[in-house]
Amino acid sequence: MLQAARKRVGARLRTPLRALLGVALAALAGFAAWRAELDAGADALRAQAASRLNNYAGALSAEIGRYGYLPSLIALDGRLQRLLAQPHDAAAVRAAEAYLQRANRAAGSSVAYLMDTSGLTLASSNWKTPISFVGANFAFRPYFREALRGQAGRFYGIGTISRDPGLYFSQPVRSGGRVRGVVVVKIDLDKVAVPWQGWRDPVLVTDRNGVVLLSSVPAWRFELLAPLPAAVRRRIAQTQQYTVAGPLRPIGLLPAGQAAGAPLFRLAHAARGPFGALPPHAFMVNSRVVPALGWRLLSLSDMRPVRDAARRSALAGVAVVGLLESLALVLVLRRRAQAERVAGREALERAYGELEQRVAARTSALTQANAALQREVDERERAEAALRRTMDELAQAGKLAALGQMAAGVAHELNQPLAALHTLSDNAVVLLDKQRLDEVRGNLDAISGLVRRMARITGDLKSFARKAPAAWQPCTVSKALDGALSLLRRRFAQEGITLERAFPDDEPRVMCDELRLQQVLLNLLVNAADAMHGVAQRSIEVSLDAGVEPGFALLRVADSGEGISPAARKRLFEPFFTTKAQGTGLGLGLSIAQRILREVGASIEAQSGQAAGAVFVLRLRLADQGGDGHG
Ligand code: ADP
Repeated sequence: MLQAARKRVGARLRTPLRALLGVALAALAGFAAWRAELDAGADALRAQAASRLNNYAGALSAEIGRYGYLPSLIALDGRLQRLLAQPHDAAAVRAAEAYLQRANRAAGSSVAYLMDTSGLTLASSNWKTPISFVGANFAFRPYFREALRGQAGRFYGIGTISRDPGLYFSQPVRSGGRVRGVVVVKIDLDKVAVPWQGWRDPVLVTDRNGVVLLSSVPAWRFELLAPLPAAVRRRIAQTQQYTVAGPLRPIGLLPAGQAAGAPLFRLAHAARGPFGALPPHAFMVNSRVVPALGWRLLSLSDMRPVRDAARRSALAGVAVVGLLESLALVLVLRRRAQAERVAGREALERAYGELEQRVAARTSALTQANAALQREVDERERAEAALRRTMDELAQAGKLAALGQMAAGVAHELNQPLAALHTLSDNAVVLLDKQRLDEVRGNLDAISGLVRRMARITGDLKSFARKAPAAWQPCTVSKALDGALSLLRRRFAQEGITLERAFPDDEPRVMCDELRLQQVLLNLLVNAADAMHGVAQRSIEVSLDAGVEPGFALLRVADSGEGISPAARKRLFEPFFTTKAQGTGLGLGLSIAQRILREVGASIEAQSGQAAGAVFVLRLRLADQGGDGHG
């Protein structure tokens, strides 16, 4: 039981930990799915961008390669040689210009022109237009200086006159082993850029310094990928490469980590791409060098689809693991519930078994207790029978004791008349001798009276000593009282005890055995006399009242003695309870009195009197009321 409780507490403690673990596992799965999808997506994005960049770099290189030879081809023409030889010959100028115009149109380039070794433009294909280069000096351009050194020149810049950006190709024009002039062809790369206009992701081309030359985001053109050192800025200014476009400012790419080994950037400023506003979130930047020019081709791939996919994967991962966990939880809970059900059933069976055992034990205990009780009842019954026997014997013994007392009284009562008889009879003899017959008759009458009195005493004694069964019959209390008093008269007179009786005028009769009632009253009066031994005022009051309780008369015997202590009062009616000196009382009087009264349906109790002294109240059944008699 204790173990189970401990287990439950343990489980309760572990539950939040498990929940935490479950959540952590799901989060881990989500993270792993997110990471994997992000990596895979970034890889794919990178591969896609690389292949596109390859294609475009190829196209760009091919284009450049195609135009790279054009100036050398144009330079082969004799009209240009002639002009270089006679720069001020108007016919030569016209011929050269016509040629350059035709050649330029045929090649599809922007402009083609011829410079002398000082950088002065002698003839140009755009001689007829308002932006004619003729007479302009481009000695500051690097392509001129490279061609002057006998090399092919390449340069991207914005035209200082035409204000159009373009790629310049230059070749020296030689004659007699010397460089006499420079032929330049400028092409518009915007046309080359056309293929990438279909790409959703921004694409841009930068030069070695990171200046954006071409871009599918128009606003970025001639801006910088990163700020330039001052020296580089100065050099660029000298060649007037981008002067027309104004100061070079950074696009504003903020680093935003890495994905699949490629750097990620966010845009610092809003910009419009080929398909509307560019999103503000991260781009993957892939780049590739265009070998022919040392330029760099960059593409900015929107990371959002990859991130969205990664997020979806993460959610899916969390969902799958959560589902699996829920499934596992359901299984575990089901198994636990099953185990609990089994355990519950077992516990119930155990409890039932225990209950049965307990009932059996209790039943056997009850049976034993019952048997013990029965034994005890038997014993009690035996004890009661023994007690009853003893009581009977005791009653007899008590009666004998009373008899002893009575015998003393009787002896005294008889002694007096006997002495009188003796005197009277002696006198009668003397009087008879003297023939005083009248006096003899008087003496004989007195003798006869004395004999009658003695006969009454002995008669009483006889009836008292007889162990007669209780005779329920109507009797008069005062007669029983008289009987008792007759035995105590001498003692009362000797000890100065007065007795007052308060009986109704027509005294009701009670159901009783007169002799026994006399015995009871004798006992009460003797006890009263004993109790008054040590007091000066010795009086007894006996009263009878039939008006208190219907069907009963209350006989009250009150004395002015020392009274009964509370402790003694509880035990008054116990057999052998006595406070009297040894030899003077057996402690049987009241118990016998109680028994006698019970036999005739009456009762006795001791009350505390208002004044000092003891009061005994006898509740006697009235003889003339009710018909139940002695029931
Ligand atoms: P006994 O008279 O032999 O002692 P009883 O049964 O008649 O036996 O009385 C028991 C006791 O009750 C007496 O010893 C006495 O202490 C007490 N008792 C009885 N009647 C009175 C009384 N009227 N006043 C005071 N005590 C009494």
